[in-house]
Amino acid sequence: MSALKPSLAASAVLLASTFLAAAPAAPPARAAAAHPIRNAAALTGNALYGTGRLPRLACPERPVREGSAASARQYVLPLFDCLGTSWAAALKKARLPFSAPRLQFISRPQRVCGEKWPKNAQGLYCPSYRKIVILLDKHITREAADLFLMDVIAHEYGHHVQNLAGIERAFNRLRYRNKSELYEQYRRLELQAECFAGAFMGSIWNSLDRTSDDWRYLLDATRESGDENSKVRDHGKGRNIATWLDRGFRAAAPDACNTWSAGASRVATAPA
Ligand SMILES: [Zn+2]
Repeated sequence: MSALKPSLAASAVLLASTFLAAAPAAPPARAAAAHPIRNAAALTGNALYGTGRLPRLACPERPVREGSAASARQYVLPLFDCLGTSWAAALKKARLPFSAPRLQFISRPQRVCGEKWPKNAQGLYCPSYRKIVILLDKHITREAADLFLMDVIAHEYGHHVQNLAGIERAFNRLRYRNKSELYEQYRRLELQAECFAGAFMGSIWNSLDRTSDDWRYLLDATRESGDENSKVRDHGKGRNIATWLDRGFRAAAPDACNTWSAGASRVATAPA
């Protein structure tokens, strides 16, 4: 684990879910606290951004039985393999090494990688263990057919890609002057992982038996799942998360996901 930042907590993905209360209407924008990222080429100019579109893979979804963790697991495994094929190709183009992460399923929150399971997290990536952990509890298995589970595994895989590409390491080395700057850095990391998830989903979309309504449903739910629902301001406001997810999806390429160079409003959290 890094001495500077507790990476584990930053790697949780909140489940985009309809059972969360709707966020109130957005109040007027505050003056954005801008903390541009400087002197960190691994973040703002990573070789991954020059690799073009992810390969158009055929990665059809397996049917998933509502409420069945065993079935959800069988749904995730082929996606996990496709994620490996896809990102291995991108990293190869960037002349970066690839190795698949470890993958663990749990059925209830428990300690993983020596840390307490973060509240509301559906998945987790442990950088120092190179391990993805997916929580297959009743919340996710109930909605497994709605692209949430694909988003969760693709998001956590996005963190693994960040780790392999040196982004995680550069993130850990970033200095910050105050909590607001620190949390903006977390959000840049999280929003990039979500954008990588979108890029992967865009790259396999034509092989899925899905409609644009399915995608809109995921975006709508994502808009309701941001920092508005959390005390910790580390993932971004729901609208920003959905925007980066969709941006990655439309480009199907990691160069759409340079959150480190984006302006402060695009990585903003929700008003307190
Ligand atoms: Zn994350």
